[in-house]
Amino acid sequence: MTDGGADLTETERARILAKSALFDPPSEQLADGRRDLVGLSRAELAQEMSAIGEAPFRAKQLWHWIYHQGATDFSRMSSIARSMQLKLAERFVIGRPDIAVAQTSADDTRKFLFRFRDGQEAETVYIPDPAEDRGAVCISSQVGCTLSCRFCHTGTQRLTRNLGAAEIIGQFMAARDAYGEWPSPTGQAPRLLSTIVLMGMGEPLYNYANVAKAMTIAMDNEGIALSRRRITLSTSGVVPMMDRAGAELGVNLAVSLHAVRDELRDELVPLNRKYPIAELMAACRRYPGASNARRITFEYVMLKGVNDSQADARELVRLIAGMPAKVNLIPFNPWPSSPFETSSKSAIERFAKIVMDAGFASPVRTPRGRDILAACGQLRTETRHRARSKHVF
Ligand code: SAH
Ligand code: SF4
Repeated sequence: MTDGGADLTETERARILAKSALFDPPSEQLADGRRDLVGLSRAELAQEMSAIGEAPFRAKQLWHWIYHQGATDFSRMSSIARSMQLKLAERFVIGRPDIAVAQTSADDTRKFLFRFRDGQEAETVYIPDPAEDRGAVCISSQVGCTLSCRFCHTGTQRLTRNLGAAEIIGQFMAARDAYGEWPSPTGQAPRLLSTIVLMGMGEPLYNYANVAKAMTIAMDNEGIALSRRRITLSTSGVVPMMDRAGAELGVNLAVSLHAVRDELRDELVPLNRKYPIAELMAACRRYPGASNARRITFEYVMLKGVNDSQADARELVRLIAGMPAKVNLIPFNPWPSSPFETSSKSAIERFAKIVMDAGFASPVRTPRGRDILAACGQLRTETRHRARSKHVF
């Protein structure tokens, strides 16, 4: 890339970050003036402690209680003197989103509808691995989405706001509460909630600052301690932010491709009009850490008669040639009045075979939690506006 190109990308990134900040959540201050400690970076936590005249080691202690032990109550913090516990409780809380609804599917997938302080809601899905004691937590990054991919239920809901770092990491912590998995398992110990996939509602790279902060907390070794290999960020292709995410977070990347020609992708994933396939593929090739051990996942939703031909499969193989990649074929998950049908089993198998014969893993994702609308692309909540006083004087 020429220097001019790099400058342009930097300008574009600044524009995206500034626009995204307009959708940031309300302050984490509670009505009673107390502040939520969840979602603060280590430096911010230390700053809060120094503001109340406490030494920096206090922040380290709190970090351990909050993210390793999962404590939500200062009185449980046995390494902290009682008087100090009271002082902290006067000024701070360790919050969790409220569980408005929890539903369990016939296949044990569990969907949580979380409600945040301002009444906004987002969904989180826990997908247990049926064969082993582990599972993925699918986390939302926004309430709604600015993008409107045609096959996605979330895309029918306008963007209400970004989720804050506390709300993003809070989804994982509240799910851990529900399964009683505290303290955070360490080292190689098995974990029921073993991976995070940023594949819920919203486009994580249009809320990069909050997502990055939350994932930095998740990866911190003295807390939740999930390795970056256990976190996957899925994007519909916000090209300028892919480089940033790669450099700063180094988590696994999943790219929602869904079409191999610009004409069709422009329709299915409208962001393609801004960042077309060639640019997207170039960003994937640049993504750091991509190697045979850490492949980029291309997600491809199988839509009957739309993108599931053998010619599409061959073009896909051409696009990803030479890249450390795998292709996740996702049978389309219908939602109320959705405009597509799921490809036939034989069409999916034919497609998968062409990709596999070219040397790429091409697993077909078994739909999970469809009965409770918890499968990929089925999440959506009613937009709630902040209650306004109806009194007329
Ligand atoms: N906004 C991000 C992450 C959330 S969507 C993104 O688009 O990548 C997670 C995955 O589910 C994406 O690959 C998305 O394209 C896919 N998806 C959306 N609607 C779907 C549906 N109805 N059936 C199957 N997959 C769907
Ligand atoms: Fe948004 Fe992803 Fe749904 Fe597209 S697929 S509308 S980017 S959540």
